[in-house]
Amino acid sequence: MENHFKKTFFQGLVGQKCPHCRNANLFEYSGFNLMNFSTMHKSCTHCGQDFVIEPGFYTGAMYFSYAFNVAILLVVGLGANILFDLHVYTLTALVIGVSLVTMPFNFRYSRVLMLYFFSGIEYKNK
Ligand SMILES: [Zn+2]
Repeated sequence: MENHFKKTFFQGLVGQKCPHCRNANLFEYSGFNLMNFSTMHKSCTHCGQDFVIEPGFYTGAMYFSYAFNVAILLVVGLGANILFDLHVYTLTALVIGVSLVTMPFNFRYSRVLMLYFFSGIEYKNK
């Protein structure tokens, strides 16, 4: 059963919930389900909010994804370079590896951020 207590903006965002009701999940499967982590509901299973805002709406999510990957490059790449004496190929492989492992996380939160900040959907608890 879905719970109906009010969630904050932040709880809804982190929990990958519908931005309109913050009750139902945006994604059909867990982020650890590697075959299906990207599958989204077309509309909210709780309030019916449409998640397909307009054709190509989620194209903008790649800017968030890009930002996540730049952050990984800076934190992991520079961090490992400062802490350990690694060859540039090893550093590159490390950054690519971390980027691949965190891909489901990046993909999902890029879309969540897109929905929460650029969809114009307003929160209404029913
Ligand atoms: Zn909803």
